[in-house]
Amino acid sequence: MENKSFFIKSYGCQMNEYDSEKIASILQKDGYMNTGDVSNADLIVFNTCNIREKAAQKVYSDIGRVTKKDDSKTIALVGCVAQAENDEIFRKNKNVDIVLGPQSYHLLPKMIDVYKKNKEKKINTEFIINEKFDFVHEDKSPKGVSSYVTIQEGCDKFCAFCVVPFTRGPEYSRSIKSIIDESKSLIDRGSKEIVLLGQNVNAYNYKDEKNIVYNISKLIDEVSKLDNIKRIRYTTSHPNNMDLELIKLHGSNEKLMPFLHLPVQSGSNEILKKMNRKYNVDEYKKITDQLKFYKPNIEISSDFIVGFPGETNNDFESTLDLVEYVKFKQSYSFIYSERPGTKAAKISDHTPKDEKKLRLNVLQKKLEDIQLEFNKSFCNKNITNVLIENQSQSNPEYFFGRSIYSQPVYVRAKRVSIGDVIPISIETCNHKSLYGTIFH
Ligand code: SF4
Repeated sequence: MENKSFFIKSYGCQMNEYDSEKIASILQKDGYMNTGDVSNADLIVFNTCNIREKAAQKVYSDIGRVTKKDDSKTIALVGCVAQAENDEIFRKNKNVDIVLGPQSYHLLPKMIDVYKKNKEKKINTEFIINEKFDFVHEDKSPKGVSSYVTIQEGCDKFCAFCVVPFTRGPEYSRSIKSIIDESKSLIDRGSKEIVLLGQNVNAYNYKDEKNIVYNISKLIDEVSKLDNIKRIRYTTSHPNNMDLELIKLHGSNEKLMPFLHLPVQSGSNEILKKMNRKYNVDEYKKITDQLKFYKPNIEISSDFIVGFPGETNNDFESTLDLVEYVKFKQSYSFIYSERPGTKAAKISDHTPKDEKKLRLNVLQKKLEDIQLEFNKSFCNKNITNVLIENQSQSNPEYFFGRSIYSQPVYVRAKRVSIGDVIPISIETCNHKSLYGTIFH
């Protein structure tokens, strides 16, 4: 009998994790079994990320490791590296059999069949995104407390450093009906929190058959009406799509969590211009001020690129000033990584790598200090709203949950119901997590 087992490895962002779940469900519908173990699988799917050079390189070393032990496995390289590198992949690694862009996952079973019949390498990197969502098969398995739902894909912004507009194509918004249907199904299967996903999630714009236009604010309102939903988040947002309606919604919709990931990338106007971010520091500050006006307890996190070509020490100091002003929580920061084909790759870059590393350390230390200060503010206090996600496998007396700010909270308790929102007495913390017991 034909071996139809697979293993999938996901790299990069939450959108890739979400896509990997969908790929798994498409394969299962075709009779494949998810082994969860690379050595037992006949088909191995690498769902790749091309945002940084390191992530793109890692996939090739992982493929090398797998095929060194057994080169009879079928290897599918899918996702953003597939889209960006196309048939170049077959030259880079002869063990890759199938290359599939992020918009055509539904074609994977057919491509595998054809490949197995003819042993001829297969490639598809077309942008046929509307079909992709039609093929999102409903799986019936129980779901975690927090689930992702993709509402939007692609990007029209063309930031100078970013490959997404090339790998994921133009902005596309999924139909409101399919988003609501998927959210309902996830809630029926145990989810309490829905995280709406998109490369430019707040650019969501969908006109239904009655010509009603839904932006992200209207969509969030619709999702929040679903029975038994406790929390809604959305990521990743672009500052230019933070309109007043959405800002005000943070103050009026109780299910929308008071924590927003709003990447700024740099605190220098010069660098923002070179990055083609299309806003300046004052405009960004105005958005965060308005958010805090309408939702006084809101907290904001960000992404930062350090050492963008031409970044001077003064530019970097401006970034530190902005961090001080907004007091970002739980941010991500990286040294600029040149991506082939982007505008930034053509800008000459004279800052030594060591200097960039130094700047990154300074920024990360500052972000960590702010985060620690924030977490300490919860110590010896009772917080009312920790959503319990699971029980520790290694120590059943510990449960894991998240606060409204997405802080990981480790709870010592004999018994807690997964999916409940409970009050916790916070005893200790570090810059990443809070630790406590149930507050009675
Ligand atoms: S808005 Fe985000 S996804 Fe779009 S080009 Fe800029 S960084 Fe990339």
